[in-house]
Amino acid sequence: MIPRLFVTVDLKPGAVFAAEERAAHYLKNVMRRSVGDPVILFNGRDGEYTAEIAGVSKRAVEIRVDDLRRAQSFVPDVWLCFAPLKKDAVDFLVEKATELGVSAFQPVFTQHTTATRLNHERLEANAIEAAEQTERLTLPEIRAAVSLQDLLQGWDPGRHLILCAEAGPALPIGEALSRLKSDVRQTNAWAILCGPEGGFARSELDLLSKLPFVTPVGLGPRILRADTAALAALAVFQSILGDGAQRPPAPLLPIGQRPE
Ligand code: SAH
Repeated sequence: MIPRLFVTVDLKPGAVFAAEERAAHYLKNVMRRSVGDPVILFNGRDGEYTAEIAGVSKRAVEIRVDDLRRAQSFVPDVWLCFAPLKKDAVDFLVEKATELGVSAFQPVFTQHTTATRLNHERLEANAIEAAEQTERLTLPEIRAAVSLQDLLQGWDPGRHLILCAEAGPALPIGEALSRLKSDVRQTNAWAILCGPEGGFARSELDLLSKLPFVTPVGLGPRILRADTAALAALAVFQSILGDGAQRPPAPLLPIGQRPE
């Protein structure tokens, strides 16, 4: 298995740099790699590169960048707006939604949200780890939490909001997104909004449903848990409006041995 790492340095052939502490620790102590071992790198800007460990000392790991493996490509701009959940559920959601290609996480406090705090750094660390393992070329942005009211006040109407509505009028998600796809005014900026475990307040659903940039959608007859609903909506989004038609990059190693 070849370790795949997110780094912040610029990537170009021949560049040599000292790995950041987290990456150095992972390569040296967790993966027990040494000089000459291959690594795959991405930084969210320059595409993905093959690289090699050029030096290992007590405190540092030096990496030399080799060749471009994949150019930076278009990624769908889809935010996930979610009401903060219990810690484990948020960790799960961030990991899985990163795998499904979300471009940003926007925590939103709604009337029935019970969680009161979110650990931004923890979300970021989970997102980095999931991005490394999933062959993404970008990291999702973790945005600061806001109230639903403030979110809507500052909303760019060019970003279309897909509202997971457990009650009230809504088209089935597949039909709603297919309609949006054939809409000539179609935008490239999207967001999915899911409520908390307690659901949306009726007044919130009414308010949201009236906004011109909102499309309420239904996810079937079952009431899903908030994390399930968000992931289901994201999967359908990628398949209809996102990058669901693309294939993973050709593996450097035989299939089944993707980078760690
Ligand atoms: N306690 C609420 C359910 C909340 S489910 C109740 O009993 O009605 C949490 C969130 O998941 C909801 O706010 C909604 O955004 C989403 N969701 C769950 N099931 C859904 C469905 N069948 N259709 C659309 N959205 C759904």
